Amino acid sequence: MTPTALAAATDTHCPYCSLQCGMRLVPGTDRPAEVLERPDFPVNRGALCGKGRSAPALLARNVRLTGPLLRDRPGGPLRAADWPEALDRVATGMARTRARHGPDAVGVFGGGGLTNEKAYLLGKFARVVLGTANIDYNGRFCMSSAAAAHRRAFGLDRGLPFPLADIPHTGCLILVGGNPAETMPPAVRYFRELRENGGKLIVVDPRRTRTAELADLHLQPRPGGDLALALGLLHLVIADGLVDQEFVARRTSGFEQARAAAMAHWPDRVERITGVPVHQLREVAAMFGRAATGMVLTARGPEQQSKGTDTVGAWIDLCLATGKAGRPYSGYGCLTGQGNGQGGREHGQKADQLPGYRSIEDPVAREHVAAVWGVAPESLPGPGRSAYELLDGLGRPDGVRALLLAGSNPAVSAPNANHVTERLRALDLLVVADVVLSETARLADVVLPVTQWAEEDGTTTNLEGRVILRRRALDPPPGVRSELWVLGELAARLGVSTGFPAGAEQVFEELRRASAGGDADYAGIGYERIAAEDGVFWPCPTPDHPGTPRLFLDRFATPDGRARFAAVTHRPAGEEPDGDYPLYLTTGRVLAQYQSGAQTRRVAELNAAAPGPYVELHPRLAGRLGIADGEPVAVTSRRGRAVAPARVTDAIRPDTVFMPFHWAGAGRANSLTNPALDPVSGMPEFKLCAVRVEPVGVGLVGSEPLGSEPLGSEVAKPEPDR
Ligand code: SF4
Repeated sequence: MTPTALAAATDTHCPYCSLQCGMRLVPGTDRPAEVLERPDFPVNRGALCGKGRSAPALLARNVRLTGPLLRDRPGGPLRAADWPEALDRVATGMARTRARHGPDAVGVFGGGGLTNEKAYLLGKFARVVLGTANIDYNGRFCMSSAAAAHRRAFGLDRGLPFPLADIPHTGCLILVGGNPAETMPPAVRYFRELRENGGKLIVVDPRRTRTAELADLHLQPRPGGDLALALGLLHLVIADGLVDQEFVARRTSGFEQARAAAMAHWPDRVERITGVPVHQLREVAAMFGRAATGMVLTARGPEQQSKGTDTVGAWIDLCLATGKAGRPYSGYGCLTGQGNGQGGREHGQKADQLPGYRSIEDPVAREHVAAVWGVAPESLPGPGRSAYELLDGLGRPDGVRALLLAGSNPAVSAPNANHVTERLRALDLLVVADVVLSETARLADVVLPVTQWAEEDGTTTNLEGRVILRRRALDPPPGVRSELWVLGELAARLGVSTGFPAGAEQVFEELRRASAGGDADYAGIGYERIAAEDGVFWPCPTPDHPGTPRLFLDRFATPDGRARFAAVTHRPAGEEPDGDYPLYLTTGRVLAQYQSGAQTRRVAELNAAAPGPYVELHPRLAGRLGIADGEPVAVTSRRGRAVAPARVTDAIRPDTVFMPFHWAGAGRANSLTNPALDPVSGMPEFKLCAVRVEPVGVGLVGSEPLGSEPLGSEVAKPEPDR
């Protein structure tokens, strides 16, 4: 079952979402480890969802990779290999590609689930060893629009500018396009406590989700209506005299332009665009505008749009106009998604960034980081392509031809996934480092099995900006290595023999120096301190600095200390419904699965709870199309087709269908999604595209599975001799 049983209880954190719940691992009976609650950890206070409780199932050998795999010829099978052979193949392939086509023909694609240490070393490997500009990561698909809007308004991007524990003390909270009751259930207690304290909770979502059912008021706009909705509320706040003039004058800039933009979004117009009735707009504007304190939280709904940065900017404008930012129990925040969605974007695996949230185009930043790395600043490449642009260019003459991919499964999670899969197949060399044989790993020439959460030390940064420590609780199987070790071995084979230690704490010590003086300053944070304090909030520039749980209380992080209004206007989505594709498709997550499902689809109890994809549609729409509940339906967009059973429910708008995106096969939602990119953040428009829906006979579904795969059906390769 497991090579090394747990010797004792180990306090660590869940491998999945950005809440990074604290948990205690103890020796298991039918699993390598069992999970106990840690009521003392302040974020989740002991509560865990089913994903966290069942996470040790992934440590078992029958669901994971236990040795490297190689493909000897295109189209041939993967076979077991030993580490020297696998690493030699990777290094030789990368060196050959670089020699023939230049450094930018070798690319790196990371993930928001990687620890800070892995993300940091991956960025350093790309810039120092490969010399490529082309490194990006799947976090571009999660929070990049919120990050861009955050930086534009406040000069700094941290998911939440306050701890979750502040939520119960605010007067009115608007949650836009997020469903924590399914994505991070332990966080729901903060929203419940808010209401118990007399605060108001308003949820904006095209679906009546479990979270919306907790709200005082649920607004159900059309997909893509979030920007107009925020502008309409700002319009009403201004018209009703609810602007905090003193705050606007003292702590912001650009209000007049924002006011002019908002005045073009009068209530009737906003009702026509969004479908939200004027009386609800007025109710929300009054509720939020009159509350003494207030928060707006966004999640993937408004962010994963081709206008995501502007949409988040408009919600921030609403906060600024009403004086609800930079004050206790007030502010704008983003509920980040992946486990290290926050830290993963701070330390250099993003195409335009260096560690410490520094810009790769800033000469001072380049000089600082180059000095830490012991290289010349001019040797560092400039910004590379954003995630979808990088994937779209794979195998093309001007694109990446050899790709190292770590902790990501774009064959399922990228938009326009049929096309992305084609591009992955067009590579000269695809190397995938992962825990399991994901759909993307199945396409690889080389698969490198790597350690996971309970088998390694490492830090992550949760959605609050709290840097926390995952502890090694047990040994990995003998054929498995950490990505840190892999990068060091590859660096040595490519001629860089120092600067790539395999120890996580050693890497973190260097990260501290590289981040010093940057926006995300970790210089004062060490492993011992994190363990002693149950996490430290960045920025924390010195060991005696207390950390920064609450940002912006004195000034915003802009050069003049003022927050900047965005002054944006509504525009249509990249693709709106028309005669051929008359419905909106929106996508999202379910309680028992996580992201591309590469991990959670291998956990028996999670698979039993959420065994496959489905298409949610309103009874009126189902009746019009002649579709019965449970019947297979085909959903078709301009990019592809997906088939899944219908789930008929009045929780969704009649003009919209919903699919969860966790599955591969015929029910893959991302076969349909539109890669229209936000011009600022590079975020693809996952949250809406135009589709048509048709019933299909059971016999016409096709032989490809709808998405669920038998547990362990494809792994458990024999461990190679060594
Ligand atoms: S809420 Fe997130 S971090 Fe907590 S147990 Fe569930 S998946 Fe893990």
